[in-house]
Amino acid sequence: MRFTVFAQGGAAALALAFSMGSASAQQYPTRQITMIVPFSAGGPTDTVARLVAESMTRDLGQTIIVENVGGAGGTLGAARLAASAPDGYTLLLHHIGMATSDTLYRKLPYKTLEAFGYVGLVTDVPMTIVARKDFPPSDLGGLISYLKENAEDVNMANAGIGAASHLCGMMLLSALETPIQTIPYKGTGPAMTDLIGGQVDFMCDQTTNTTTQIQGGTIKAYAVTSPERLALFPDLPAMDEQLPGFQVGIWHGVYTPAGTPDEINLRLSESLRKALADPNVVSRFAELGTVPSTAEEATPEALKAKLEAEVAIWKPIIEAAGQYAD
Ligand code: ASP
Repeated sequence: MRFTVFAQGGAAALALAFSMGSASAQQYPTRQITMIVPFSAGGPTDTVARLVAESMTRDLGQTIIVENVGGAGGTLGAARLAASAPDGYTLLLHHIGMATSDTLYRKLPYKTLEAFGYVGLVTDVPMTIVARKDFPPSDLGGLISYLKENAEDVNMANAGIGAASHLCGMMLLSALETPIQTIPYKGTGPAMTDLIGGQVDFMCDQTTNTTTQIQGGTIKAYAVTSPERLALFPDLPAMDEQLPGFQVGIWHGVYTPAGTPDEINLRLSESLRKALADPNVVSRFAELGTVPSTAEEATPEALKAKLEAEVAIWKPIIEAAGQYAD
């Protein structure tokens, strides 16, 4: 008898919790949302996030504020999301580093493939090899020989182990078979400030952060990492022309904490798709060489499949290189 009462009470409580859950998902969002960017303000991930957040804010009717949680190649920001409530009020806009850090870091405070919910893919962005404007080499061939001959005297900025700039830089150094001193930042926003100021020599960075500076002549550009030359910079060679196989594309995605209701992930995904079709976002992305994800890609299933595939792709590559972060 007691059991029956309990069971009936339990069922009623469950039904109530379920209806409250779906009611709050239906009303979502009712307050401000935070979008974590796992790198410093002013860099390429931050730029993408702010453009998307501004457009999604209009669609959702609630402000999305961007919070920069830089450090440890993006893993600090990802850890912050993993520890947040799964209620749709904390999001993360991250890049390829979400996949590579799973193998690169021996002690991540979260399990990459279990800790997150998925909203959708956002963009795919090529990188550029750029230097301070008075860096001696004048073209890509010259850069390759200069780096080999002056390896001990030059330094390269990056945004920490697992950052896109780190991966691209490591690919370059392994192609040159030359170790070069690296200077880690919490994002390539501040690294760009130092590059313009001449405090660091060169770096790899997304076009989202380098296009305006290249066009303004405040830095020097040597190459793009897309398979072909970019319409944006027809005179810049693709790295692949001189170092065959050297191709890097940086994909970005929006995540929630694991356990976030499907209705909320789907509502966010719908809003993301609208943002990626927003004429202001489309034109800014085009100016910065940033390719928006398609409507099929900006979905929870597509981001989940991408992350799983990329973790599997990078694992053997990183294990073969045998370089890890603790
Ligand atoms: N471009 C950076 C990276 O190397 C991150 C950033 O500041 O957006 O991963």
